[in-house]
Amino acid sequence: MPADTERTTGLRLDGVAASEGVALGPAFIHTPGKLEAERREIEEAEVEREVARYHEAVATVTAKLSQTAEEMRESGSTSEAGIFEAHIEMAEDPELAEGVEERVKSLESPEAAVLEVGEEFAGMLASMDDEYMAARADDVRDVTSQIAAELIGCGAAGLAALDTPSVILARSLAPSDTARIPKGMALGFVTAEGSKTSHVSIMARSMGIPAVVGVGNAIEGSLSAKMVAIDGDSGYAVADPDPDTEREFERKRAASEERKAALDEFKDVEGRTADGRRIEVSANLGSAKEAADAIAYGAEGVGLFRTEFLFMERDELPTEDEQFEVYRQAVEAFGERPVIFRTLDVGGDKDLPGVEQPYEENPFLGWRGIRMCLDVPELFKPQLRALLRASAHGNLKVMFPMVANADEIVAAKNLISRCRDELSAEGTEFGEFDVGVMVETPAAAICASDLAPEVSFFSIGTNDLVQYTLAADRGNEKLEHLQTADHPAVLKLIGLTCEAAREAGVWVGVCGEAAGEPDLIPKLVALGVTELSMSAPRIPRAKKVLSEV
Ligand code: PEP
Ligand code: MG
Repeated sequence: MPADTERTTGLRLDGVAASEGVALGPAFIHTPGKLEAERREIEEAEVEREVARYHEAVATVTAKLSQTAEEMRESGSTSEAGIFEAHIEMAEDPELAEGVEERVKSLESPEAAVLEVGEEFAGMLASMDDEYMAARADDVRDVTSQIAAELIGCGAAGLAALDTPSVILARSLAPSDTARIPKGMALGFVTAEGSKTSHVSIMARSMGIPAVVGVGNAIEGSLSAKMVAIDGDSGYAVADPDPDTEREFERKRAASEERKAALDEFKDVEGRTADGRRIEVSANLGSAKEAADAIAYGAEGVGLFRTEFLFMERDELPTEDEQFEVYRQAVEAFGERPVIFRTLDVGGDKDLPGVEQPYEENPFLGWRGIRMCLDVPELFKPQLRALLRASAHGNLKVMFPMVANADEIVAAKNLISRCRDELSAEGTEFGEFDVGVMVETPAAAICASDLAPEVSFFSIGTNDLVQYTLAADRGNEKLEHLQTADHPAVLKLIGLTCEAAREAGVWVGVCGEAAGEPDLIPKLVALGVTELSMSAPRIPRAKKVLSEV
């Protein structure tokens, strides 16, 4: 049969246009959960061949892992490289090989054997009364799943081992998933769940790749797709497109690239309205590695550095020194331009490996952001110390997430003073920084005049402000129509914040996704916002929009 007629016309998946752009590429199906392998019985005569197949699979997995580790070292991510190097050691562990060989000799298939031995090892680690060792259990499962996947023939199990640029199809993608994808390996995201302000959408925008989220149960029909075409401008994807659809997507991709290129001239201009008002246009970053790209897009600083990604892309908590290195690299990359670090904001849809998160009925209304940090000073203090130390190397500012009242700011500032005293007593170099607060709870906006005396700036987090004001879960695809800051209630809260700030003499930025929305930019500026911070690829267009306001 000719190749053309082998194809189906493709399955269309309609969802939310969460991140712009068009892409076409191989599908990578991410369905987390334990990989199940059939407990196939083998023949006596197959034992030698199956043992050899096992060793080949280990070699393939370790080759991929060492390539990833090497790339990470080259890009300066030494601690992440360390994770992959530890995984190589686990894959090559002689005890693991011994356990698998024994089972294969008793006529069990190697894929089932490696999963079972892995589960045994993981079980032993998990039962240890040592948090570090217990956390290694998931690493063992990850590694043995990768070997089993190789044996079954469905390639690497985890996103971390993705080695071909692909469109990722998943029911949902957590920030800890997207943070592990090797650079350049994601061409786009298609997810069953999510809305424009879910973290998967935010990540796609900052990676400059298209995303269609909230396609719902339709995703189930696409989980065996080989190719995917995705249109993040119109909000749909096609699984296994036919040749005509592929050609149409190629055309759309070229047109989309052209539109992007037409904005290039705005990358290097200063953010300014047509009547000359200066508006700083900054980038939202999740890691220091993104600094160079953000500067290339024309970022005039960083309005939101989401520090939690540094904690989420690894299996154990980063030390104070590791944090210091990352914060220092980021401020040094931006020179005199400001870099605003948001202190750890976990909870909600962001879990933290290494910290036990209690079960919560309503995690978005729960123990998150500043609430959690103030309760766990052993987690918060190393971050504040690292920020104070990095502040000696650049224009660093700090802001707190999820603040609901002035007491929280005062408590956090007291902790900063304690850290300052400790560093001073130790003779460790540190600098001073401006402290600001995110306005992302309605309480913070309504009481902005009470908060203003405690801070140097406000940064409005419209993603959460919208969800809390409209009582609409930001990750729920059914509530997409409510996910907009262009609602009178939200605009009133932004207006209140700006008014309180003006009276107190502090400045106001917006770092939620609304800051990069062309329709909203004129309204935000009219209300008194003087800084807009967004996913870096949106910067040139925002500067163009400003120049026309
Ligand atoms: C926000 O809530 O608008 C924000 C910028 O923070 P995050 O999206 O990380 O919750
Ligand atoms: Mg928020």
